[in-house]
Amino acid sequence: MRIVLLGAPGSGKGTQAALLVEQLNLPHISTGALLRDAIKRGTQLGMQAKSIIDKGELVPDDIVSGMIEERLGKQDVANGFILDGYPRNVAQAASLDAMLERLGQPVEEAIQIDIDPEQIIKRIAKRAKEEGRSDDTEETVRNRMRVYEEQTAPVVGYYEERGLLTRVLGDGLKEEIFERILSVLNQHSQPA
Ligand code: AMP
Repeated sequence: MRIVLLGAPGSGKGTQAALLVEQLNLPHISTGALLRDAIKRGTQLGMQAKSIIDKGELVPDDIVSGMIEERLGKQDVANGFILDGYPRNVAQAASLDAMLERLGQPVEEAIQIDIDPEQIIKRIAKRAKEEGRSDDTEETVRNRMRVYEEQTAPVVGYYEERGLLTRVLGDGLKEEIFERILSVLNQHSQPA
């Protein structure tokens, strides 16, 4: 199954992606994780990306789309994947469609995790303590929220127009949210 997970920073996308990966035995493709790995390894791309990420801005489309194209070329995506953090704007969504069309493997499900902004601030504050991410400072988080509203939120409409979107309530325990996602996937995999 080829799934795109969408949601604001702190919506629990990464957590749900990890649970889905375990349940469905599919590769987890996260541009944020790929970028953090490049930073850790000190590659040129990582060095370029670090200051952008620390400001809460988006890394240029050609860089992230290049990373995704390379990742989608690997064997382990033959049965599908869970995409987390990509696409982050409409141009990336269109690039993804073009890449997947070439592979004859279009996106099958786009799941938006809906959550209210107050919860987001709480969750990110918790994550900042637990993971020590350098882009979880208050100022960066505020900017990431703004970037999300301006650039990423329209991606929800992109998938909605194509009949691929389902919204899931992101309130409650991670297990409850996961159950909601699984029930959507189960319903959609039933023959009509
Ligand atoms: P994430 O782990 O998905 O929250 O991503 C952390 C940061 O990495 C984001 O705030 C962006 O700066 C950068 N990033 C991750 N994915 C993308 C993407 N698809 N396009 C541009 N920048 C990205």
